[in-house]
Amino acid sequence: MELSIKYQGKIQAHIKVSKAELKYNGFILNKSFIIEDVIVNGLSSNYSIELSDDHQYQIITISSGINAVNYMEVKYSGSLDGTTGLWPYVKEITLPEFALLRFETLCFPFFIKSIEDKELYSYVHSGFHLDSKITVSCNNHLTVFSNLPLENLATINNEKIFEFRGSFLNFVVGKFEQLKIPYGSINYLIGKEVKLDLKNIIDITIKYMSEYYGEVLIDDINIICIPEYLGSFVDKHTVFLALDALSDVRFIIHEIIHIGWNPLVELNAQRTRFFDEAITQYFTARIYDIFEENGSVKTYKTYQLHFKKTIKKHNISLVPLIDYGKYEYGDLSYSYGPLVLKAIEERIGVSNIDSVLRAMLAKYRYQEINFSKFFKLFDGYNINDIIEFYFYTTKGQNHILEN
Ligand SMILES: [Zn+2]
Repeated sequence: MELSIKYQGKIQAHIKVSKAELKYNGFILNKSFIIEDVIVNGLSSNYSIELSDDHQYQIITISSGINAVNYMEVKYSGSLDGTTGLWPYVKEITLPEFALLRFETLCFPFFIKSIEDKELYSYVHSGFHLDSKITVSCNNHLTVFSNLPLENLATINNEKIFEFRGSFLNFVVGKFEQLKIPYGSINYLIGKEVKLDLKNIIDITIKYMSEYYGEVLIDDINIICIPEYLGSFVDKHTVFLALDALSDVRFIIHEIIHIGWNPLVELNAQRTRFFDEAITQYFTARIYDIFEENGSVKTYKTYQLHFKKTIKKHNISLVPLIDYGKYEYGDLSYSYGPLVLKAIEERIGVSNIDSVLRAMLAKYRYQEINFSKFFKLFDGYNINDIIEFYFYTTKGQNHILEN
């Protein structure tokens, strides 16, 4: 795949994919963009556009069958106004001097028919060829950051041209200034003040996590501040940190933990968000004790309140935690998940749960965990009733709602 994006207040993009990268004779794309041309085997092609059933994105289909395509190119342009994100937590907006372009909001075409398609996940992880070349160019005084490695940077006249390689696509374009720290670098948005001492929070978090849950060498963290309400996210050692997250130390602790201390997870279990978000939220509560007296206790209260509010607000009918993925309830793992871990902690003690979680992180660093493997780590601690109560039934959730 080759993708080139020109950013000048709006996006001008051109993508070219090979036959092997196509799963459909067309593609899906954020509905804010205007399709300028669809080129098949070098010639402009006819195509039709329809909106997805939920009206969240557009589906483009070419008139010829997929077998007739040797390669396809798409030219599209436009800007995002913050209303067309795919999922509620990722609504993006493009401004004259700032843009966040994410695969999650379909800023780039995926050559499948629908996001329901299982192929979406294969695209997200490696659907485009890993040696895909991505070029993003913008005005001289702007910088482009990505989770992908930067291979080359050139300046021609008043334009900077950034070249990346890889297939998990997220980019930020903006005005930044950089602070080097022992663990990597922090990139602040120019003109947006940050009151918290990020360097110190990162320091404390990494030292705590290394001491209790195993040493992880981190020297290439890249923190990139992004505007409020865009939602923070992490890919490998790149943290896109939304400015509203900077009002609470815990959001930063949370994102730093993701970098070094999440196990690999089987896809089915992954969608429950338990092994990334629940565990990270639990660690976060623990570390918060360093920053505030009774910090963890207060944090569990926050989780409890948040869980209650979410259930009430969206009128959610409960399903067992292990089915969260199936029902797309993964967001509940942020609040309910750490409370489950806290219940286990209260049963077996802090040092025992720490040694189990430490063992989990060591064992599942390079192989994938699932729930039964996770429960097996607690063999000998006699927590079967807790597992039943909190994971396999909705009793634990009702218990929290009633308290
Ligand atoms: Zn998270």
